[in-house]
Amino acid sequence: MNDEEELYYYHPLENIEDVDIFYDAVERKKLTKAISEERPYTYWTIELYDQTNGIRGGGGLGVLAADTRRIAEQMEVPFTLLTIFYPSEYTQFMKDGEIVDEKHKVDYHDFGFRLIDTVNIRCNDCLCPLEVIEKKFKHTRILAVTEPNIGELYADMSGSDHRLYQEVALGFGGYAALKLAGLKPAIIQLNEVATFFAALARLDELVSNGMDFYEAVVYTRKHTLYTNHTLVQAAEAEFSIEQFERYVMPNLKSLAVKKWLRNSFEHGKIKLSTVTIEIAELRSGVSKFHARVANYHDLAGNKVKFKAITNGIDLSTWTLPSILEFYQNSGEFSPDLVLSEDFRQKLEFLTSDDIRDFKIEGREVLNGILKDYPDQYGNILQFQPDDFIFDFKRRFVDYKRPDLPFRDVERLKAILKKRDAHYILTGRVHLGDTRMYGLLKYLLKTIDNDAFLKSHVHYLPNYDEKLAYGLSCGSNVAINLPIVGLEACGTSWMKDVANLNLLISTHDGGVADGSINAYLNVSGSDEAAEVEALYQRIEEAISIWDNDFDLEDSVRRQLTTFLPVISGTRMLSDYIDYLFSK
Ligand SMILES: *Cc1c(COP(=O)(O)O)cnc(C)c1O
Repeated sequence: MNDEEELYYYHPLENIEDVDIFYDAVERKKLTKAISEERPYTYWTIELYDQTNGIRGGGGLGVLAADTRRIAEQMEVPFTLLTIFYPSEYTQFMKDGEIVDEKHKVDYHDFGFRLIDTVNIRCNDCLCPLEVIEKKFKHTRILAVTEPNIGELYADMSGSDHRLYQEVALGFGGYAALKLAGLKPAIIQLNEVATFFAALARLDELVSNGMDFYEAVVYTRKHTLYTNHTLVQAAEAEFSIEQFERYVMPNLKSLAVKKWLRNSFEHGKIKLSTVTIEIAELRSGVSKFHARVANYHDLAGNKVKFKAITNGIDLSTWTLPSILEFYQNSGEFSPDLVLSEDFRQKLEFLTSDDIRDFKIEGREVLNGILKDYPDQYGNILQFQPDDFIFDFKRRFVDYKRPDLPFRDVERLKAILKKRDAHYILTGRVHLGDTRMYGLLKYLLKTIDNDAFLKSHVHYLPNYDEKLAYGLSCGSNVAINLPIVGLEACGTSWMKDVANLNLLISTHDGGVADGSINAYLNVSGSDEAAEVEALYQRIEEAISIWDNDFDLEDSVRRQLTTFLPVISGTRMLSDYIDYLFSK
């Protein structure tokens, strides 16, 4: 990027009243005194994956949101997460060889939320009351809007009226909820464009309170960060002007804002990313690779630049407690999880004996968790300390290629057989994704047809956070095979690296923040070559685990490269630096 572009795309905040105090505090890494509780960092997300607080998301976007709040809590950043509380959700299980999705109710009272009051939004000629509920922590809080008919997460098709209703409910309802809670946003971070209406609500408030429209746009732009997780703008769903007239316009007070919005339609259609780009000057992508290749244009047709801020995970949530303690005691991380400057030297304290001991402990944790996750036959799996386990755990979607390891079933079988190794496959199919239901059914049939596979390849339905944690702690090798260019970041692999598993992966998403020598890389000029590389890596992983020197060397190499990448504390510090740097 040349200097001129840098200036254009990277405008630091300037007119936030207490930015100086805030910035000083950022330097000291403790923000308590700087931004008041009434003026928090606000983080907007249509999806939150935080089961201890009663909210089950769909995948990585929601896990990231939950981790970001937990990290803010640890760093004492006043932080408010705004989302929807969905009163029902789906669990997935197997019945007579078929995947079944079952809906059940969730009650926010069971998870420590308190009703503050109701707010109204206007949709489709009706006044829709939304309950505003809150759960407070010491430095952070979750504010959510909900009502009995708001539906499930990602109910209906993207681009549908129902989705627009949910997004409007979060944006306008959430903005009203903030005021109800007595809060003003210091920063609005939009976790993907489904949250665009929060920034729009702010713009509308400024203009309807008398600010000049142009000034209000500048002000909103400088305080709004759009975090993009998608690669291709063309793939984004569109809404029609007619839908906006029914769901969006009735919630706007300012004629100037309505006029601006109507003018942003092209051929009667709108993509939320185009208008988000107009009112968010700060824009980030979620890994170095993703920020470079995300292909977005503004309304004038100019290519949009994204600042790379790679996702991280909350290590205290995802790491086996004794491994976390090891990192803190031997000095890779400080007690409050800031990476030390000489962490690379400190990693020399990690021996193959340590790694094997941690895995034995992790395996007990896994066995405990597996009691609640029967396999495809309804059986409970339990593993011995010397069993060898590969896992593939991620949403069952096309681009993640859960079927790649099964391209040559005989080959896979031979490799597993040699070491008597197990392969655990887990991941939920998106509701209504008939292609992937079909593919999963085919894989299960392949497994069922072979006695060895039947006893060594296991599918666990109802993948969730707990199972993700258990497998990261208790398996030996994790497999991650997105088509290169399609994974924005991915965070499952980070849990595996933190828990000392070997990582077999394509060079994509956040993995590509590191070098291809840092882990067991799968690459090839076409898919057949990738499959060949994959089998070689699977064999290699087994031999590495059989040799103390190789194990120590490989695990240390992974950590040397990836500890700075996976650290959630690093991620939130990067966001704060980007938002408040001078
Ligand atoms: C960590 C986690 C994810 C993240 O998935 P990626 O595809 O790696 O981004 C998704 N779902 C669950 C349940 C998780 O625990």
